[in-house]
Amino acid sequence: MTAGQQEELALNLSPQAMRALLDAVSERVLGFHQELADGAHPASYVNDSLQTEAYEAGRKICAELREDEIPRQGAEVGELLDELFGPATANGTMHPHPGFMAHVPSGGLFQGAVGDFIARSINRFAGVWIAAPGFQQIERNVIRWYGRMLGYGEGSFGYLTTGGSIANLMGLLCARRAAEDLPGEPVVYVSSEGHYSVAKAAGIAGIPGSRIRSVAAREDCAMDLGALRAAIAADRAAGLVPAAVVGTAGTTNSGAVDDLAAIAGICREEGIWFHADACFGGFFRITERGRAALRGIEEADSIAVDAHKSLFLPHGSSALLVKDQESLRRTFEIPGASYLPGLVEEDEIGDFCTYGPELSREIRGLTAWLPLKMHGVDAFEACMDEKLDLIEYLARELPRIDGLEVVADHPLHLPVLNFKFTAEGLGQGELDRLNAKLCELVCSHGNVYLTTTELPRHGMVVRVCILHPRTGRAVVDQLLKDIAWAAGRLRAPEEI
Ligand SMILES: *Cc1c(COP(=O)(O)O)cnc(C)c1O
Repeated sequence: MTAGQQEELALNLSPQAMRALLDAVSERVLGFHQELADGAHPASYVNDSLQTEAYEAGRKICAELREDEIPRQGAEVGELLDELFGPATANGTMHPHPGFMAHVPSGGLFQGAVGDFIARSINRFAGVWIAAPGFQQIERNVIRWYGRMLGYGEGSFGYLTTGGSIANLMGLLCARRAAEDLPGEPVVYVSSEGHYSVAKAAGIAGIPGSRIRSVAAREDCAMDLGALRAAIAADRAAGLVPAAVVGTAGTTNSGAVDDLAAIAGICREEGIWFHADACFGGFFRITERGRAALRGIEEADSIAVDAHKSLFLPHGSSALLVKDQESLRRTFEIPGASYLPGLVEEDEIGDFCTYGPELSREIRGLTAWLPLKMHGVDAFEACMDEKLDLIEYLARELPRIDGLEVVADHPLHLPVLNFKFTAEGLGQGELDRLNAKLCELVCSHGNVYLTTTELPRHGMVVRVCILHPRTGRAVVDQLLKDIAWAAGRLRAPEEI
């Protein structure tokens, strides 16, 4: 083998090659963001009756991307980037688009992605303290800041996770551990409007569906606390152990917030773990309106938050926060194995592997640290307030459009709003069909992407969630224009 061939085989890039790779990638990433700004991509390629062709093309392209053979030889980076930024990009729902208002948008602040890139490219080990104490302290700062944002004080702690579902799982594992010594099988309570990840988490934590109580929601979509008390009493009478009440701080459907202070009171009285699922709305507590809506959340034993929702960060940025650091340690600590580097004991400099299910992992804190340090938390508060203002603006403007009404069973807590088209003399089935059509028509221009949902007392409604940092007044005005156009077509049904 010649020296030249040897070089060709090497996985290790020269400094020049590293720079060339970074430059090539920067070029494409910036190009993609420019395309978004120029309107070259719709807010979604999916579910789009007027652009069926684009949707079909997207499906075909995905089929063509399939490769069964492991690549034997290397390829030019340019070609690889062509694949990523070409066929792999132009399909599906476009989460980074400012008109993305479906589900719960994840803004994906670029600064956060760069923080993550730094963490990945220096590749320090975050499982144990001594491997990277400097970066551990920085990750702990992020956890401390999240705790402060949610109202926690001294003694609280947390663990950065890849998603809210994992944070809910860790919260329920803590609850289970706390109830471990009580005689009887544990039961979990969550409102009928709660997120499905809670039932999933309970299942993984060994609490089957037969011991998950779906507590009725009131007309305002918050948990009925009378029903909660009755369910707890019935379970105690049956010899079961009420182990956790999950309060929802922002339902996905409508942003309803359970009465968290009252749930905290019930849990205190009954000796039950109180877990708050604040994945959607948690960080809004840094705004005045959010603090009012989330009153009492700081009394929860654990809180799941999604920074990839209400803190605008890229996907994979969530956390479980606990009021008492010890509860995490009790749940996850296993006496060290001899091949692990020395584990440390003090609360202040503990190993993350003692506080969560993982050992090897990347430094996670930089995804949040870089944007928070670059801008300061006030900039985040202003951005959240802007989203709340925009949803209030939308709620005022929508009823001006003929045939449309806002559907709100409770005051607006979070930037999500439901509305529907109504007309005299139509049955529920026909109205549901028209509202599905309305949503489809609005999306067909590609300026925005919305979805429908079903509300217990209203049937099918169209749902808007404004949480992308780039969704400003101009995008909302465009949304109103597209809705007015679509409603006009519904009023002239011979066209549909
Ligand atoms: C999104 C969401 C979850 C799940 O979080 P992931 O990050 O998607 O795993 C849980 N609960 C609520 C209320 C949510 O909005």
